[in-house]
Amino acid sequence: MTKGTAGSILRVLKPPEPATGDIFFEAGGSTFHTHTCPTDPPHTWKCNSPYCNFLHDLCPDHGGAEPVTIGREPWKR
Ligand SMILES: [Zn+2]
Ligand SMILES: [Zn+2]
Repeated sequence: MTKGTAGSILRVLKPPEPATGDIFFEAGGSTFHTHTCPTDPPHTWKCNSPYCNFLHDLCPDHGGAEPVTIGREPWKR
C-alpha cells in the first residue's frame, strides 16, 4: 500500500523526436543524423553514413545523390 504520489520524481520518458513516419537511409553506420530535404514542404530523413557533408540536400527519393555507404566508398575502388 503506497500513499500518494507527491514525492515521486519519476517521469514518463518521451523520445526527443516522434518515431512515427521516420525514414532513413541505411548506409552501414551506427550513428544517425537528420537531413532536411528542401522540397515543398520540406521533410526530414535520417541516415547513418559517416560521409555526409550536406545535410540540406535532396533525399534519394527526390532525385538527390545517395549517401555514401560504408564499404562502397567510391574513392576506395
Ligand atoms: Zn547523411
Ligand atoms: Zn525528399
